[in-house]
Amino acid sequence: MVRPRRKPVKKKTVRDIDVKGKRVLVRVDYNVPLDAGRILDDSRIRATLPTISYLRGQRAKVILMSHLGRPKGRDESLSLRPVAERLGELLADESGRQRRPDVDHGGTPSHGSGASLQEVSHNESTVRPDGAHLREAQVQMTDCCVGADVQRAAHSLGEGEVLLLENLRFHAEEEANDFEYAKALASLGEVYVNDAFGTAHRAHASTEGVARLLPAVAGFLMEKEIEFLSRAVEHPDRPYAAIIGGAKVSSKMAVLEHLLSKVDKLLIGGGMANTFLKAEGFNVGESLVEDDYLEQAKDVMGKADEKGVRLLLPADVVVAERFAADSPARRVSVKDVPDGWRIMDVGETTIDVFARALQDCRMVVWNGPMGVIEMPPFAHGSHRLAGVIANLREATTIIGGGETAAVVEQVGLASRFSHVSTGGGASLEFLEGKELPGVAALMNA
Ligand code: ADP
Ligand code: MG
Repeated sequence: MVRPRRKPVKKKTVRDIDVKGKRVLVRVDYNVPLDAGRILDDSRIRATLPTISYLRGQRAKVILMSHLGRPKGRDESLSLRPVAERLGELLADESGRQRRPDVDHGGTPSHGSGASLQEVSHNESTVRPDGAHLREAQVQMTDCCVGADVQRAAHSLGEGEVLLLENLRFHAEEEANDFEYAKALASLGEVYVNDAFGTAHRAHASTEGVARLLPAVAGFLMEKEIEFLSRAVEHPDRPYAAIIGGAKVSSKMAVLEHLLSKVDKLLIGGGMANTFLKAEGFNVGESLVEDDYLEQAKDVMGKADEKGVRLLLPADVVVAERFAADSPARRVSVKDVPDGWRIMDVGETTIDVFARALQDCRMVVWNGPMGVIEMPPFAHGSHRLAGVIANLREATTIIGGGETAAVVEQVGLASRFSHVSTGGGASLEFLEGKELPGVAALMNA
């Protein structure tokens, strides 16, 4: 599907709208990795704390909604209940940090809970400097996300209280962007905040439909995503380099074409580089190659030439006899890939060359790993590249792409990038220059 090019627009944020004492419906991305109900990584929950804390500080009544996984109808294994619990703990920590040392917060009064309403997690009460009592750390949860019980729960929320609705995708209407479903969700709030960048490329009821029905603004996480990714596609600092890797060139063709007219340097690695190497006449053995894209790869190289974009392909690669972590492997020049072997990673020389090309850059965007990162022997190129980019002092550095973000997390370097996007598919579409429906639906600043 071809979508219109993204226009350079600024979006209103939660700061630009009066939320005081209002019921604020917030779309968050709590699609966390779960193992039998245990949350393996809570970073998506943590990422929403600034917006939630701000809203609570404004005495808003916070109604959170998210999807989790891909349920076909109701599926208890994909309930957001563990998330409500974790969020409760995080909010308790947060209010603990903000609490003044001279304030007594020993008491934990219990609150009555309605039939469909359970308070998951800590009940705490804090005396605020102005004397008002806010229940600091409880997250209420409903069994569903629409219906009379949910209505009641939303409308009886107190100022500063937090309610999490059950998984939006328990209803097929969510992904169908059903109007009645969007209306039912919208009826819960007075203002809508979207802080779920990771689903902004989908026109679903909670990301797009609702935004048409309520005053709609961006949360802080969404704001940061838009700010950094807009810079990468609209007004980058120069020199500007994009590093594109990952498995398939077919999934990266649109981003390559779009970035070609923006960047000064284009560095290509990972499995998708194989198609370029083959198009250049190199033997790539049994490597992952997309023969249907050889012409397009040539075209990209031709256009780079025309535009004066410096395009770099791997100079050396790590090849393996089999597609397996324990396979015999060695580093060879791209001229010497043995028949029957396959390219699994870029080599040391390639990273050296890439590092030199990046040294003077003021803006660097990285999407897609340099090798088969799932297998430790072939994650080296990506890990080294992460280090190189993290050490660039003068550059705005942006990571887009789910696996790429995982790589920099793995090596503990995420905090040394200017921005690590939380949305894999969404950041890729943004870098392709597409308009994201969830962003488009927010009010312009
Ligand atoms: P992102 O999620 O960051 O956008 P992609 O999904 O495009 O990244 O690509 C990640 C995948 O690319 C990884 O699963 C990795 O194994 C694969 N990959 C990288 N290099 C190669 C290669 N040489 N051969 C096969 N697969 C590769
Ligand atoms: Mg991916």
